[in-house]
Amino acid sequence: MSTLGAIREKVESGQRLSFEDGLTLEASTDLFTLGDMANLVRERYNGNFGYYNVNTHINPTNVCVYKCDFCAFRADLGEDRAYVMDEAQIRERALQAHGRGATELHIVGGLHHKLPFQYYVDVVKWVKDAAPEIHVKAYTAVEIEWFCKIDRKSIKEVLETLVDAGLGSLPGGGAEIFHPEVREAICGAKASTETWLEVHRTAHKLGLNSNATMLYGHIDKPKHRIDHMIRLRELQDETGGFQTFIPLAFHPDNSRMDEIPKPSGVMDLKTMAISRLMLDNFPHIKAYWVMLGIKTAQVALSFGADDIDGTVVHEKIYHEAGAETPQEQSVAEIRRLIVEAGRVPVERDTLYHEVSREGSSWASGKRIEVPILTMSRS
Ligand code: SF4
Repeated sequence: MSTLGAIREKVESGQRLSFEDGLTLEASTDLFTLGDMANLVRERYNGNFGYYNVNTHINPTNVCVYKCDFCAFRADLGEDRAYVMDEAQIRERALQAHGRGATELHIVGGLHHKLPFQYYVDVVKWVKDAAPEIHVKAYTAVEIEWFCKIDRKSIKEVLETLVDAGLGSLPGGGAEIFHPEVREAICGAKASTETWLEVHRTAHKLGLNSNATMLYGHIDKPKHRIDHMIRLRELQDETGGFQTFIPLAFHPDNSRMDEIPKPSGVMDLKTMAISRLMLDNFPHIKAYWVMLGIKTAQVALSFGADDIDGTVVHEKIYHEAGAETPQEQSVAEIRRLIVEAGRVPVERDTLYHEVSREGSSWASGKRIEVPILTMSRS
């Protein structure tokens, strides 16, 4: 078993941590040492900046063929709470987002039994037609695999069709936990680990950036989380296309796993710190305040995270699962939280260009460069 002292030496000299090192970090209860090491990497890569963006979520439908145990968002066909947004609603949401200065629309949802792939393509087209300046970050790898199935297309063909419609990047959802001991138990029916990784590999080869997530704090064990991070790290070595890793805290309410308690604050901060330490080739680690809670997200800016996500309007997925956070934070409040954490707030767009605002318009400026030590781009 490695020691925290030996791990610190590796971190200070920019060496990669092993699977065994990851387990040592997981076994430690020395939260402050973990946070201190993660903060060292965080500041090496992103200085004192705390990034945020102005975005809006659209969940076009909650109807889903799958029944992942942790999901409180999905509905069956014909259920009272089932919905599908139509063209007018999507356009209105895009216009609203544009009107309030959003630079990004984050679009994810259920896998509807009866909607054709063309509907999902049209969602992107309607948004880009209504608000051409907005970046569309849409559809998890699980959704992409579903589109391949229903339209009998390859991953590459589906992605190219969506790019032609206006897709700008992929979100990181649907990763959950890659290890088969967990994946098969909580969401065995949907896209496999190999498929999830292949969708992102293909996207990166096409020049699309993407994010990656990990849903922790349910039946997962330390070895599953470290395995998850190492699989992502290996793909990132190969492609360099991931931007941000987002550890997602499990929310049990209204799910089929509601007997499991929410992850504690200690687990949230520890997972954030370990993510920063293990994922040495990811430029950014995000504290997604909607799931973590605003207070923990703020503290996480000193435990490895450099990004606090956006102003987020109309989020449904985690609020259905009991997230008690508000639907929206104002820019002023997000900036205040970042400043209070001792960081310098920087608004970014989806692809990590600084955003400058004059009056009511905005423009993307220079790209935020991160001096990753070990990343090798192909
Ligand atoms: S997590 Fe996604 S794929 Fe699973 S049931 Fe919920 S909406 Fe469907």
